[in-house]
Amino acid sequence: MSDTSIPSGAPAPKPWIEAIHAYVPGKSAGADGRKLIKLSANENPLGTSPAALAAAAEAAAPSLYPDPVGAALCEAIGKLHGIDAARIVMGAGSDELLNLAAQGYAGPGDDVIYARFGFSVYDIAARRCGATPVIAPDADYGSDVNSLLALVSERTRVVFIANPNNPTGSYLPKGEIARLHAALPPDVLLVIDQAYGEYVAPEDEDGAMALAAAHDNVLVTRTFSKIYGLAGERIGWATGAPSLIATLNRIRLPFNVSNTGQAMALAALGDQAFVDMSRRHNADERAHFVERIAALGNHGLRPLPSEANFVLILFEGALSAEQAYEGLMEAGYIVRWLPGQGLPQALRITIGTAQQMDAIADALAAMAEAAK
Ligand SMILES: *Cc1c(COP(=O)(O)O)cnc(C)c1O
Repeated sequence: MSDTSIPSGAPAPKPWIEAIHAYVPGKSAGADGRKLIKLSANENPLGTSPAALAAAAEAAAPSLYPDPVGAALCEAIGKLHGIDAARIVMGAGSDELLNLAAQGYAGPGDDVIYARFGFSVYDIAARRCGATPVIAPDADYGSDVNSLLALVSERTRVVFIANPNNPTGSYLPKGEIARLHAALPPDVLLVIDQAYGEYVAPEDEDGAMALAAAHDNVLVTRTFSKIYGLAGERIGWATGAPSLIATLNRIRLPFNVSNTGQAMALAALGDQAFVDMSRRHNADERAHFVERIAALGNHGLRPLPSEANFVLILFEGALSAEQAYEGLMEAGYIVRWLPGQGLPQALRITIGTAQQMDAIADALAAMAEAAK
């Protein structure tokens, strides 16, 4: 790493910007540069819909600006989800929209609340607009509505919650999301991040979309990065009251979603068979993988229940998460070890192919046995 300290007399960033720890992405190679199978960033192991890949070739118009609002894409999203297109805004990934939500509604002297072990972008989003991040204690790693509500004060401007949550995979049912919303003052913005929403069985949905449709203080964010397999194209969207959408439109970059990205997302939306196949694959492989890891409970391995496309495994026995991380790297797999997020005892593993998950479970079993 080069020296990033500020030379004397050089431009100094705002103190709240300097306090930010830059986002740490999932790695795709080992320390020696060897290419590894990447199960560290919750990408779709089935790739991308063939329809979306075909659309990319057709849409190529790099010399032209994209549609600034993504009108066709907003229409298609609206149709699929039963939302008026005027209540949708596109983002360069949902990360952009999460940042804009904080920036639009919070600043120096204001609080932004989220759960311990919540998505790491919330901390950056809160700090970069000068607001104070306020962290609610977890309940066995999951988000806890009571502890979030206990921190609400007259300084609170935004509450972030990911449902399902990353990196824990935990999920709050509809009743808990409704209870959280009902207890918040109407002038506090509740941002419900549904990056993994499509992985949740339809009968278990959390009611966030209905809250965003009915109230002026709920924003729901979604992404094409996860089940739609378009992480490289950077496309997310948010829905909420027209006043919220107008705020985000004022401060987003004018052409934030590329031509190719819009065309691919539109085609991907039209291929719900690919989405259904991805959801089924994930549910089947996750259940099988969790069962195999739970069988290593006598060695201190504990998979947390997950509604997303990854599983967080706690290492509470002789085999440490760090040793398992290194061992899996030896076996050719890169997963996510999260000491920087207060989880040195855990690995987050994206659900890959059946063969990959079996190989990982075999490797963990062998390591756990040897560590006794
Ligand atoms: C992956 C992820 C996102 C967003 O990713 P984008 O690629 O920026 O759309 C948002 N929230 C959570 C919880 C995530 O895990």
